[in-house]
Amino acid sequence: MDIKANLEAVKKSFVNPACQLIAVSKTKPLPDLQKAYAAGIRDFGENKVQEIQAKQPEMPADTRWHMIGHLQSNKVKYIAPFVHLIHGVDSFKLLREIDKQGKKVGRMIPVLLQIHIAEEESKFGFDQAELEEMLASPDFAALGHVQVKGLMGMATFTEDESQIRKEFRSLKSLFDELKKRKLPDFVQLAELSMGMSGDYPIAQEEGSTMVRIGSAIFGSR
Ligand SMILES: *Cc1c(COP(=O)(O)O)cnc(C)c1O
Repeated sequence: MDIKANLEAVKKSFVNPACQLIAVSKTKPLPDLQKAYAAGIRDFGENKVQEIQAKQPEMPADTRWHMIGHLQSNKVKYIAPFVHLIHGVDSFKLLREIDKQGKKVGRMIPVLLQIHIAEEESKFGFDQAELEEMLASPDFAALGHVQVKGLMGMATFTEDESQIRKEFRSLKSLFDELKKRKLPDFVQLAELSMGMSGDYPIAQEEGSTMVRIGSAIFGSR
C-alpha cells in the first residue's frame, strides 16, 4: 500500500482543491499514520476513543485529531484535553457532556452537529425536529465551552449517485439556511463535513468543506 501515492491521487481528484482532507486512520497501525504525516497530512480521523488515546502520544504534537465516529458521553473526558474537532455530535446530552468536559479543561471544544440525511435507519444524527428543538432551547443557549463549527452527515451506502447527491444537497441547504439565522455566538457555521472514499467527489460538488477519507488512502479495513 503506497500511502503517499494514494494521497497524491486522492488530492489530484479533488473537485474542490480548497476542501480539507481528513485522513481516516481508524484500525490502521501507527507506521501508516507516520507515512501519511511524512507526506504532509496533519488531520487524522479516528472513531474509537481508545484508539485515539493510544495513538495520540505516539504522533507529533502538531497532529490534529478528529473524532469522527459515534461518541459515548462517558468517554468524552478522555479526549477533551486535545481533540481538534468532534464531528459526530448527535444529541444534546452528548453536547452538554462535551461542554462540561470543556469547562474542566478550560477549552471551548470545537464540534460539528451530525445530521441524519441517509435513508438507512442505522446512521446516527439529529433529524430536523430534534435539531430545531435543541437550537430553540435555553439550555442550548447557556452552553459556554463548545464551539459549534458546522454540520456533518453521511449519505446512504448505495451505488445510486442521484440518491447520494440528493442527500448531500439536503444537508447543504440546511447548512445555508442555518447560517442565515440568529444563533448564539458559540455557533459559527463554517464547516460542512461530508464525503468519504466512495462519494467525496459528489460531496465536493455539493459544497463539502471537509472530506473524511480512509480506505482510498490506507487501503481497505
Ligand atoms: C470510516 C469512516 C470514514 C471513512 O470511510 P472510507 O470509506 O474508508 O473513506 C468517514 N467517516 C466516518 C464517520 C467513518 O466512520
